[in-house]
Amino acid sequence: MTVVEAIEVEPQEDEILRLLRRGKTRKDPGAWTLGLIRQALDDARVLSRARGVYGFFDSDRLPNHPAFESAIRVGLCICTIGPDLEDRVAELMREGELVRGVVLDAVGSEMTEAAARVLDDRMEAEEGGEGLRASARFSPGYAEWELEGQRLLFDVLDGGRIDVGLSDSMMMKPRKSVSFGINFGPNPKPPRCATLCSRCDMEDCRYRRE
Ligand code: SF4
Repeated sequence: MTVVEAIEVEPQEDEILRLLRRGKTRKDPGAWTLGLIRQALDDARVLSRARGVYGFFDSDRLPNHPAFESAIRVGLCICTIGPDLEDRVAELMREGELVRGVVLDAVGSEMTEAAARVLDDRMEAEEGGEGLRASARFSPGYAEWELEGQRLLFDVLDGGRIDVGLSDSMMMKPRKSVSFGINFGPNPKPPRCATLCSRCDMEDCRYRRE
């Protein structure tokens, strides 16, 4: 099991805009919106402490599950940006600063995703190689891996090492946390595609993520 502290994240403005549901409706978000996002990014950098824990496991030593059927090895990971940003969002909401709260929340989600991207790349580099390609990331609650899959992640990884807990309803605390698996094998699923699903023409792809 590997613990990574102080992950340097690179949040992307277009992903934040997509979360705020502006991506498809308006190309130019306008100076006011961009100003809000950039202010929130500055705040988020102070309020976030991105860290994660991950490990690799032989698939035949994990519970038999369709989510892992294409894998010889499985990488599992939990990462978080900590609780401070979501506490600040709650504070802004209480103060009636709803727009700032919503924007900071979206920025926090993208910061968390950015941390997951860093660890995803790192895990691919560590475990991938000849004959052992990496799948795309997949999370409990997505496709054939039901939300209860969170239990496996927390059974085999010590979320407490990065101060992430799991509730009875399978929600992680802090909320700005992400858990995921990566299948490693000769033809792992879901495919690790060079493009984003939102920009892909394969409408019927069973692995499509929006
Ligand atoms: S929809 Fe396209 S980009 Fe997304 S998983 Fe399928 S093939 Fe890959």
